This record gives sequence, C-alpha cells and structure tokens, in this order.
Amino acid sequence: MSVRTYQVAIVGGGMVGATLACLLAEQGVSVALIDAGDPTEAWSDDSYDLRVSALTLASMNLFKSFGVWGDIVRLGEQPMEKMYVWDHFASGELAIDSADAGEMQMGSVVENRVTVLALWEKLQALDACDTYTSTQLDGFYIAEKNVDIQLSNGDHINASLLVGADGSNSKIRQLSDIPTYGWSYQQKALVATVKPEQSHDNTAWQRFLPEGPLALLPLRNGLVSIVWTSKPETTEANLALSNADFCDALAEASEYKLGGFELMGARGGFPLKLQFSTEYCQQRMVLVGDAIHTIHPLAGQGANLGLQDAMGLAKVILKAHESKRDIGSRQVLRRYERQRKGDNLIMMGMMDGFKRLFGADETLIKLTRSSGMGLVNQSALLKNKICQYAMGV
Ligand SMILES: Cc1cc2nc3c(=O)[nH]c(=O)nc-3n(C[C@H](O)[C@H](O)[C@H](O)COP(=O)(O)OP(=O)(O)OC[C@H]3O[C@@H](n4cnc5c(N)ncnc54)[C@H](O)[C@@H]3O)c2cc1C
Repeated sequence: MSVRTYQVAIVGGGMVGATLACLLAEQGVSVALIDAGDPTEAWSDDSYDLRVSALTLASMNLFKSFGVWGDIVRLGEQPMEKMYVWDHFASGELAIDSADAGEMQMGSVVENRVTVLALWEKLQALDACDTYTSTQLDGFYIAEKNVDIQLSNGDHINASLLVGADGSNSKIRQLSDIPTYGWSYQQKALVATVKPEQSHDNTAWQRFLPEGPLALLPLRNGLVSIVWTSKPETTEANLALSNADFCDALAEASEYKLGGFELMGARGGFPLKLQFSTEYCQQRMVLVGDAIHTIHPLAGQGANLGLQDAMGLAKVILKAHESKRDIGSRQVLRRYERQRKGDNLIMMGMMDGFKRLFGADETLIKLTRSSGMGLVNQSALLKNKICQYAMGV
C-alpha cells in the first residue's frame, strides 16, 4: 500500500473536476485528480459521444484563459452563431443572431469527451498534478489536519482538502450525509447524433413539443446532436424504432426544418431530474458541478454552471493558499458556498420555470407563450438580452 500527499485531491475528472485541477495546478497547488474511467482513451474518427454540451462564451473564455481552448478546437468543436426557437402551438417563434449582439458566436457545441481529453492532456503536462485513471474513491476519513482517501487499488491519498466532482450520484456527498432535494421531471431525454439533409447553418434549433423540447444542436462535420425530451414511455418507444422509422419521426417532429436525417451510431436515453444540495461543504470536503446541482438540459446550462463553480472554488482556494490560510477549513470553503449558491439557485429556478411554461397544456398559457415569443422576436433589446444570457455574459 502506498500513501501520497497532496494539497488537494479531486475525485471525478469530468469537465468540472478536470477544470478545477487545471486552475489549481497551474498556480503550483499540488493536486491529485482521480477518475473511475479513463478520459485519455483514444476513440475512432467515426464514433460520436452521445454526451454533448453547448458551452457558453463565458465557458470558452475560461478555457482560453488557461490555454485549453486551442486543443478543443483541434480535437473538434462547432461554433454556434444563431438560435431558432419555435412552438408546436400557433406560430410563436424566436430567431436570435449573435451578430446582433456584436459577437461572432454565442457559444460552441462540443462532445464532452473532447473537452475532457483536452483538459487531461493539459494536466499531464503540469508538474503539480498527478492523474489517477480507472481508480475509484472507496471511502475517506476526515482528521483534524488532513483527509485520508482510500482508493479502489488499495492505495491511500492524504490531502488538506477533498473535492467531490463525482457527478449527480456523488459518493462523496452520500458518505458525507449531505441530503439532496428535488424531483423527477417524469421525462426522459433521447440523445443521438444525426446527419441532416440540409445544412444546420451553425444554428441551435429548438422546438417546444407537447411532451417536451426537441433540441437540434449544430455539431462538427455538418452533423447535428439531438436532445429530444418526452415522457419516458414515448422516449422508450422512439428508442425501440428501427433507424429509418426513427429518422422519419425526427424529421416530422422538427417540421422538416433540416429535411430528413441519417442516424450516426447509437441512441441513448437519460432520465431527467432536478436535484440540488443546500450544503456545499464541510470541514476538509467540498462539492462542485453535478454533485451539487442537476438541472433540466432545456437551455444547456448544467456544465456551464459547474465550470463557474470550478472557477469560484479555485479563486477561494488560491486566495487562502496565498495568504497561508488552511485551504480545507470550513470557514474558507463557506466563501465559495455563499458565492455560488445564489447563482446556482437562480439558474435552477429559471430552468424549472421554462420547463413548466413550455410544458403547460392550458390553452391560455399556450396562447400567451406563443404571442410572447412573437413580441420578443420583434424587440431588438430583448433579443440582445437573451443572446447575452445564452453567451453566459
Ligand atoms: C441530455 C443532456 C444534455 C446536456 N446538455 C448540456 C449542454 O448542452 N450544456 C451544458 O452546459 N450542460 C449540459 N448537460 C449537463 C452536463 O452534461 C453536466 O452538467 C456535466 O457533464 C456535469 O459535469 P461534472 O464534471 O460535474 O460531472 P460528470 O460529467 O458526471 O463527471 C463525473 C466524473 O466523476 C467520475 N466518478 C464518479 N464517481 C467516482 C468515484 N467514486 N471515484 C472516481 N471517479 C468517480 C466519473 O467517472 C465522471 O468522469 C446535459 C445533460 C444531459 C443529461
């Protein structure tokens, strides 16, 4: 059994944990990054990751700030310049162009594996970070001056601070007895990569259907990543369709805006829930990303929020480190909790509100929604505001 000592041990090397590791290790804080999978594994050119994220301009700027954006571009991303939203009910529609807000793009659509690989490649070049792949956290014990972390390979890690970036089923959150609140949306998202007959025109298309939104995000090489939210039984039925029947159903659901489709690879289903913790930290332990908030993918904000958590926590740790304070003390970590909780709750509330507004079945709400979209569509000022929100600025 070996025991190694670091200032910070981060469990979970997804987008959020790996970003935090970069921000800390770049400034010389010693970091261990542990992940159950192997984010550095190569993939074949004709395979597609079903997990795709629309990153805001703010997230792109974060990656640019520590030199990872260029690698993401090299590995494959798709600029998102426009947004077109329309309703199945009446003629409500909203068209937004980033050029109207004076920007070249409002964000970028990237397969999660691309972002994560670029981050892990960066980490491997940083002396202050050691990465552990195919290794899980089995348990941990918090002592007065440190935390002892037991790994699945029998080794131990000793750190001043343990960070749980281990996703929505966070083991660290569960072992810390931190409760979560929320509810299931009784919806399931079907995700797939498709090739459209017509160009996606660097546009994120979203149609509100009676059972939930259908998003068609522009992806590299002219492809489109779809997130089709419906009742669980409808999603199950769509998952069971033959490839050809599925593509026909998708073309019909998207009103043939991009013509027909060809399916590229497998389809997957994700049950949707709202889940949040009101406690972000304890002495020597802190949570980030999906470990503290899981939101509806309606406006593609989950990863973007998690990246803001990583940035906020890094600032607090680096400040404490600089002033030689204990980076694992609850007093220091509470600063991060106070800073992030407000933003996270607002975003969760907004996404939940949108979900209810666009899921409502009452004719009056549907009429108000549809005419509201039409009114917003005529106002340059409101469209500019929505564009800034989509950019995360
Ligand atoms: C259908 C869908 C579409 C979405 N689209 C968008 C979008 O367009 N834009 C957006 O911003 N967000 C989107 N999201 C949300 C986004 O995917 C998540 O918010 C984001 O991936 C969370 O990142 P994370 O690093 O916190 O967690 P995760 O990505 O879940 O990473 C957790 C990591 O922890 C590791 N791990 C777990 N347990 C252990 C353990 N015990 N030991 C070691 N390692 C462990 C896992 O292997 C994993 O690598 C979408 C979500 C869904 C479901």
